[in-house]
Amino acid sequence: MTKKTENGILSIHTENIFPIIKKWLYSEHDIFLRELVSNAVDAMQKRQAIQSDSGIEMKIEISIDKDKKSMQIIDYGIGMTRDEVKKYINQIAFSGAEDFIEKFKDKQSSIIGHFGLGFYSSYMVAKHVTIDTLSYKANAKPAFWECDGSTEYKMDEGKRTEPGTTVTVYFNEDSEQYIQETKIREILQKYCNFTPFPIELDKDISSEVKRLEEELKEEKITQEELEEKKKKLKVVNQQFALWNKRPSDVTDEEYKDFYRELFHDYEEPLFWLHLNVDYPFNLKGILYFPKLKNELDMHRGKVNLYCNNVFVAENLKDFIPEFLTLLKGGIDIPDIPLNVSRSFLQQDKTVNKITKYIIKKLADYLKKLFEEDRDKFAKLWDDIQVFIKYGILTSPEFFDAIKDVVVFKSSKGDWVTINEYKERNPQPKPEKKEGEDEPMPTPDTKIYYSAGENTHVTYLEMIKEQGIEVIHTTAPLDVHVFQHLEMRLPGVSFARIDSELNNLLEDKEKAEIVDKDDKTEGDKIKEIFEAGLDNKSVTIEPKRLKSDAVPAMIIFNEHMRRFQEMNMMMKDSGMDMLANHTLVVNLENKAVKKLLQLQGLGKTEDIGSICLFIHQLALLEQKKFSGEELRQFTANASKILTLI
Ligand code: ADP
Repeated sequence: MTKKTENGILSIHTENIFPIIKKWLYSEHDIFLRELVSNAVDAMQKRQAIQSDSGIEMKIEISIDKDKKSMQIIDYGIGMTRDEVKKYINQIAFSGAEDFIEKFKDKQSSIIGHFGLGFYSSYMVAKHVTIDTLSYKANAKPAFWECDGSTEYKMDEGKRTEPGTTVTVYFNEDSEQYIQETKIREILQKYCNFTPFPIELDKDISSEVKRLEEELKEEKITQEELEEKKKKLKVVNQQFALWNKRPSDVTDEEYKDFYRELFHDYEEPLFWLHLNVDYPFNLKGILYFPKLKNELDMHRGKVNLYCNNVFVAENLKDFIPEFLTLLKGGIDIPDIPLNVSRSFLQQDKTVNKITKYIIKKLADYLKKLFEEDRDKFAKLWDDIQVFIKYGILTSPEFFDAIKDVVVFKSSKGDWVTINEYKERNPQPKPEKKEGEDEPMPTPDTKIYYSAGENTHVTYLEMIKEQGIEVIHTTAPLDVHVFQHLEMRLPGVSFARIDSELNNLLEDKEKAEIVDKDDKTEGDKIKEIFEAGLDNKSVTIEPKRLKSDAVPAMIIFNEHMRRFQEMNMMMKDSGMDMLANHTLVVNLENKAVKKLLQLQGLGKTEDIGSICLFIHQLALLEQKKFSGEELRQFTANASKILTLI
């Protein structure tokens, strides 16, 4: 029970409230200003609703008195009568305080903000607060209230002549930083940027005014413009969040301007998602996909949470899917229970739904762009593929939503989807068995890829000559993505072009001649290389290729390579990926043929050097040589030059 007294004792319950406010809310001191401004906004909105034609300029004025170490928050709202001050400030607020104590007894460290404690949060920073208020009601008299943080308050007649309320906060010793104009401006811009009334910070604008008056003299501006500009000089907030507009009413320019103003990032965003939902939760917001300049930018995303245009929390990652933490923007959720802990938020079903909604929005955007503008889509894909691929790997919802528009850079110059690759590269039909009536199964799709456009180039050229389409890996995560696609899309597999010798490259028409020792050319070359290289980890496989361009190529089993790559990624070891491999030697190549001649002449040492050289050339297509490898390569090359 609240004991209501006329002699100025607040309430028996209040004896605990001030120490609690001071101690518990320790880390959130700045929010006192948010609370006071929010009260002013409420009062002005009420007045607008009641007296829509009052003609009063609605604004909040904030002035700092450095000598008195105080600050005034002045509004032109409905104000309060003496009885209302008693009712709202003395009683109502304290029932809120009791609730507060009950609810947050054990949770002081996890409070996000917004306690419903409103006005009394000023005692976190104040030793003394006064209210001077005049109700808008006819014949109302101004009322004055003051309290120094003890349980006693004093009421008197006020001085306000215009309806509205002036709250004066006298800062305590620990809070003197709030008499700094820059500090106050910073807090207002953070918390009250979208407050729907101008907030004017009283400051010295004489030099700016002088400049404007000069402009007036020079007839660069009119008197009205001067007045207009003068007014704006003091205004610190933007007053309007673009997400409150209907997406169809916003132009691209407006989106970009809003981004610039909000994040002071002069690089244009790549694209944005305007969120606007009423059901099953209420949410508005804009998420921007920034242009990234370097790795660091990936971690600089920032999505702020607002509640009815009032800033609540910064960088609330819980709402944003992990792969999109680079996003910048703001979301406004009017119904979110703000007085909850972070761990609660993580389990909250609404939060989960919001995350899914954001994922769906992104997928929808990409799919629409894919349908409407393939070039723009490809360009965007190229820019943001790292995130998309991370999303594919970490979010099943995202993968399901975009699997049909996943594209890869093709050797044919464009970006292809898996379905398009299938259509462009008809796969051999599986053979139908005798007497089988079953419908033919769809053939599996093998997609060839290369590690990049500039690796194993000779091989790539040969493959392309045979009309085989190859996709290029373009992001570090690609091999993981292939693995994921193989798991999720039945019948699709990926093979690096050098993981096998493609059938089409072999010349199978030519008959192999067996000589008097019962050996083919291939048998002899195998022996020559085995002896010449003397390396048990290299398997020699002589083949007759359609092209004579290359003497040899390295073939490395797909699964083995993937296994090793993943191992390497995890352990970050310097393990030599190519320690065990197959060397395909091309019997059509002139240098290889020459080896047979040299063998006839018994030039074993020269043969050894040439075998090594051919092997080194094949290795060069696969990797960058280390210093030592380069040294050996150069030494061997100069030896070979002496043979000419
Ligand atoms: P809350 O704003 O959560 O209701 P407060 O303690 O901040 O709690 O304020 C209690 C009440 O005091 C408000 O509901 C309002 O009726 C009144 N009040 C506070 N500030 C103002 C103001 N600037 N103008 C008019 N009324 C106010």
